[in-house]
Amino acid sequence: MNLPRAILTRPGSRSVARGTRWVFAGQVARWEGEPQAGDLVEVLDPAGQTLAFAYANRKVQIVLRVLYSPAAGARYPEGVPDERIELARKLDRAWTRRRGLKLDSDAVRLVWSEADALPGMVCDRYADVVVVQFLTAGAERRRDWVIAWLGAHLKPRGIYERSLGPGRSREGLPPRLGWIWLPAGAPEPEPVVSIQEGPLRFRVGLAAGQKTGFYLDQRAARRLLREQRLRGSVLDCFSYTGGFAVSAAHAGAERVVAVDSSGPALELLAANAALNGFAGRMLPVRARVFAYLTQAAERGEIFQAVILDPPAFARNRAQRSRALAGYRELHRRAAQLLEPGGLLLTCSCSHAITPRDLKASVLAGVRDAGRRLRLRRVFGPDADHPVKPQVPESRYLTCLLARID
Ligand code: SAH
Repeated sequence: MNLPRAILTRPGSRSVARGTRWVFAGQVARWEGEPQAGDLVEVLDPAGQTLAFAYANRKVQIVLRVLYSPAAGARYPEGVPDERIELARKLDRAWTRRRGLKLDSDAVRLVWSEADALPGMVCDRYADVVVVQFLTAGAERRRDWVIAWLGAHLKPRGIYERSLGPGRSREGLPPRLGWIWLPAGAPEPEPVVSIQEGPLRFRVGLAAGQKTGFYLDQRAARRLLREQRLRGSVLDCFSYTGGFAVSAAHAGAERVVAVDSSGPALELLAANAALNGFAGRMLPVRARVFAYLTQAAERGEIFQAVILDPPAFARNRAQRSRALAGYRELHRRAAQLLEPGGLLLTCSCSHAITPRDLKASVLAGVRDAGRRLRLRRVFGPDADHPVKPQVPESRYLTCLLARID
């Protein structure tokens, strides 16, 4: 079989040889053949040595995403990878790794794009349902194989697709939303699933909302919050459907104010509070967080703990300094509301913001408020969201736990 070829520049081939999975247009010296979006391409160095096999999309910035890299010196029997076999092997490896983790939950990320060497593909398991996202033309091309594998090996009650967003339209793909796999003869279920995490239960809406429905990447932070001893009022900013708010109530908080700008997210938050017996302690507030923090300070409100988990402030390096100023101001306002010795749990999900950046801007904001910070923990997601050094964007989430004097 003759695949189209991409001969890389010297820096481009060095980067792929180091394990980088993204190739930008400027790193390709020459194309041989006319790969269509999603086609498999043989990737070579300037000397003509095969480096890897990647899928192509010449219409976007990342023209190649490496999918298969033969081990050093190894060759595929046919000279090119048999995609069905290789994809099944990757999915099997990803699933085996997750099964080996003790996560105290029936919800887990099974496949996470480049970090699992399956670029553009995300699969999350929510109890007996699997939710998938295919975010690139190359992922879309391979979706039937992935769906068939998941159906056969996980035997879920259903597989739901949430392939949406601006990235997909840049790739030239329409949005897809809905059940895409059900056992033979099964009626279509409601797009809602109930998961368990430690002693808590959460309802996850699949048809609307963020990510694949729930912030699986914040499981470690929720666990840490559950372990705290809380008693007074807690403020959960950017609460979404209540992952932190419900965990704070479990930790003993008598009153949890949950602030989010999304009405539907807060409705689900109220349902999640009720599901765990905390309806009476939960106060959902639909507001913009910066405005809410200012008004709360004017009212003289004081909290025992404040949680800040905003959306990404910086989408890229260029937005970094503005984002850091934003984090600083957010923490100034939040620190003002904390009782002496109060607990601050704060997170950044921008990969352009390093843990060091976040620490510095939190510290600056707390000082601006005339307060002092005692850092307790710096951490990221559980191991179902692996961080790979050769995949820089896999390190995106940083959480800090601190006491504010
Ligand atoms: N902490 C949540 C996830 C937060 S996601 C969890 O663990 O589940 C970010 C949330 O911030 C979204 O629900 C979004 O609706 C909300 N949001 C975004 N900008 C906001 C703003 N300016 N004020 C209030 N909420 C905002």
